[in-house]
Amino acid sequence: MQFLPLGGAGDIGASCYYLNIAGTGIIVDAGLHPRHFGIEALPQFDLLHELPVDAGLITHAHQDHLSALPYLVQQHPYMRIITTPQTRGIAELTLHNSVSILQEQLKGDELLRPYEHEEVDMLVRSIEWKSYHESFDIRGYRHGSTTPIHGSFHDAGHILGAAGILLEHDGRTIYFTGDVNLTQQSIQPGAILPDRTVDTLVLECTHGATESVMLPEWEREAKAMAHRANQILALGGTILIPVFALGKLQEMLCTLWRLMEAGTLSRTDIYTGGVGRKINMAYDRNRYAVRRMDPEFELASVQQKDLYEIENLDELFRQPGIVLASSGMVVERTLSYRIASRCLRHANSGIFIVGYMDPETPGYRLSRSSRGDLIQLTNSAEPESVRCSIDRFRFTSHARREDLLTIVRRLQPSNVILVHGEEEAIHWIGSAILTEHPNMKVRAAEIGRSITLD
Ligand SMILES: [Zn+2]
Repeated sequence: MQFLPLGGAGDIGASCYYLNIAGTGIIVDAGLHPRHFGIEALPQFDLLHELPVDAGLITHAHQDHLSALPYLVQQHPYMRIITTPQTRGIAELTLHNSVSILQEQLKGDELLRPYEHEEVDMLVRSIEWKSYHESFDIRGYRHGSTTPIHGSFHDAGHILGAAGILLEHDGRTIYFTGDVNLTQQSIQPGAILPDRTVDTLVLECTHGATESVMLPEWEREAKAMAHRANQILALGGTILIPVFALGKLQEMLCTLWRLMEAGTLSRTDIYTGGVGRKINMAYDRNRYAVRRMDPEFELASVQQKDLYEIENLDELFRQPGIVLASSGMVVERTLSYRIASRCLRHANSGIFIVGYMDPETPGYRLSRSSRGDLIQLTNSAEPESVRCSIDRFRFTSHARREDLLTIVRRLQPSNVILVHGEEEAIHWIGSAILTEHPNMKVRAAEIGRSITLD
């Protein structure tokens, strides 16, 4: 068994891993790097040169795990693609959304062209779907072993449809956690791990460098957020919460609704918009199909005003309200960026940072600023003073680092490969695993460096 990282090793980027099991080639995830543009954002597909590629399995529909899939399929048109039914449904929405984003980003780019809506339609139609725990077989198209590889998806908690992937062949097993969360959010319950041991574990490390006291329980953080929100709303202010359209928007919307229902948060207008609203519908449609904290709850029952119907964004600051806008990391040219730049000028308003911010994004700069500071949202932007308040809350959809160690304890692998984390995070997890299990072989994935698994 050979494991070859094509992306998403050494940072949180374009997740993509190649696996060769007895001549059958399987790719797990094909994401676009959220901070890079053009060809730089792609996984290193050229490393696949002359290697067999038979199937692609996608752990979940976040951009950094899915959005390069149309490019991969252009190069390997006969490969099978398999996901959970929920990931397939969301992929249809997010990949079409990526078409418009890429058209904008790749203007004048001679090396990469945006994929087209027709390609996305064809691709989505070809995706096979398997529910959690339903087993499926993968056979090599040309070179593979005569015995098939058995695969299955396991609920990873993280977002709707997210899966860990278990692969078995000839008595050997490998488990990819994908992005995983063991604890409950507002909508999503925690992950269900396979009830068995495995030979190799490919483990995400997002929160490896974050002390778990920094990631309090969801309910507790929600109350703290409501307390602060009430102060701002009472002054007639507007609150901007930058969110990812997939996952964080739905979880925050549900959280706000619960707080308002309980009387903990003052009732006010809530604004949402764009592809996130379509994803809300996918969440609602699946509320009995997958595990939920409360299957009766529907996002459609939360009254929302449409951000895209507002002609002038300054209007948002004329009366109190809460604005949930993408991108989550306040990337330039997105709605959250445009609203944040306006919010900075309003002393009675506030920005709530509720998730992970990559150090190279405007969201990170915001998260490190306070009222009275001078801020430059991007290197080319004019410095301006922060007049609004900025508060940080931690609502995580990724496992805390102690939970990552619990996964290792439960699955008892002989090999652990660490992926999807900054260097410091990978280092902490690697050392912690070795301290507890000195006989395990622990390796940090490196792009282009193949690992032979015995
Ligand atoms: Zn994710």
